[in-house]
Amino acid sequence: MSEPFPSDLIRTEVANLPDYNAGLALDRFKATYGIECLAKLDSNESPLGPSPHAVKAMQDAATGVARYPDAANMHLRGLIARSVGAHPDQVIVGNGSEDLIGALFRAVIRPKDNVVTICPSFGLHEFGALMFGATVTKIPFNDDWSFPTEGLCTALHTKPRVLMFSSPSNPAGPAITEMEFRQVIDVTDPATLICFDEAYVEFIEQSKRFDALQILAEAGQPYIVLRTFSKAYGLAGARVGYGIAGDAQIIKALMKTRNPFGVNAMAAVAAAHALGDTAHLNSVTDLATQERQRVSTALTSKGFQCAPTQTNFVFFDTGGPAHKLAEKLRHKGVLIKAWQEAPFEHWARVTMGSAAENDTFLGAL
Ligand SMILES: *Cc1c(COP(=O)(O)O)cnc(C)c1O
Repeated sequence: MSEPFPSDLIRTEVANLPDYNAGLALDRFKATYGIECLAKLDSNESPLGPSPHAVKAMQDAATGVARYPDAANMHLRGLIARSVGAHPDQVIVGNGSEDLIGALFRAVIRPKDNVVTICPSFGLHEFGALMFGATVTKIPFNDDWSFPTEGLCTALHTKPRVLMFSSPSNPAGPAITEMEFRQVIDVTDPATLICFDEAYVEFIEQSKRFDALQILAEAGQPYIVLRTFSKAYGLAGARVGYGIAGDAQIIKALMKTRNPFGVNAMAAVAAAHALGDTAHLNSVTDLATQERQRVSTALTSKGFQCAPTQTNFVFFDTGGPAHKLAEKLRHKGVLIKAWQEAPFEHWARVTMGSAAENDTFLGAL
């Protein structure tokens, strides 16, 4: 390029965004490190893969890809609506739930708006807000890793445009209790859109589960609950997530701000079949539940402090800069995610793979 790149072409809000801290795809890992990956534990993917019915459905659908898919995604929305007890008008599907997070910010954020979330946080809960000139208020977890309800309630008094957080939390792992959730919802002003990200809801143990959709529906404030086929359903590469809103007007708005054909024909049928395979889902969540307990115990006995977890991963204090440990582990074929957000640069997140993969991680550590 001979011409200098014009310094004011990219919007300041975009130029100032950090790069997304994504996991390393297997082919990139092999090309970079020259060894086989033995344990890919950096992206919360499922060690058991997707339901075989979902794979078959994608293969069958592949011959039909000359046609555009249904832009309204009525079949999949109907199945999801039935599974959660909502009307299809209250359901939206997206190119991963990340697509829906972006669509939500595009629909509601004005410059100088405020978004409230928790810390450590899921990066995309901040990026989309910052991209449109909003400020983000991050409320840190309590020292015992309980949800910071007091801090959230105080922040909510300022009537932020959006309250967005994940429970169970990525990257920390704990799930908010029903009582804490009710406390937070109670003080939320109707001017605030509640976005409750339940990407790991399928992994919550029975005794800690509650029906957030029902509580939100009864509370009456605008809300959307986000879920995904990427984690427990093992379809991260297919890219399908969904949202359930109280008011169909929210869905109507997000249908305009999302990419219209974002859910491709193969992904849509894969999600539909995955949703019906509860036996496969149960085997995934059973394995994760067993392994998160075993790995947390092993890490603790090695002297690493772990956050409690209701997910398919464990967040632990590496005792030094986490990126250094993660890099050393890569040379042994083990991928984990070093956290980069202050003040958690000593913490890393390790996904629960198969028992053998987790043992490889513990051995390498
Ligand atoms: C993984 C994840 C998502 C979304 O994943 P998609 O693959 O885009 O569906 C959303 N929120 C949280 C908290 C996640 O961990």
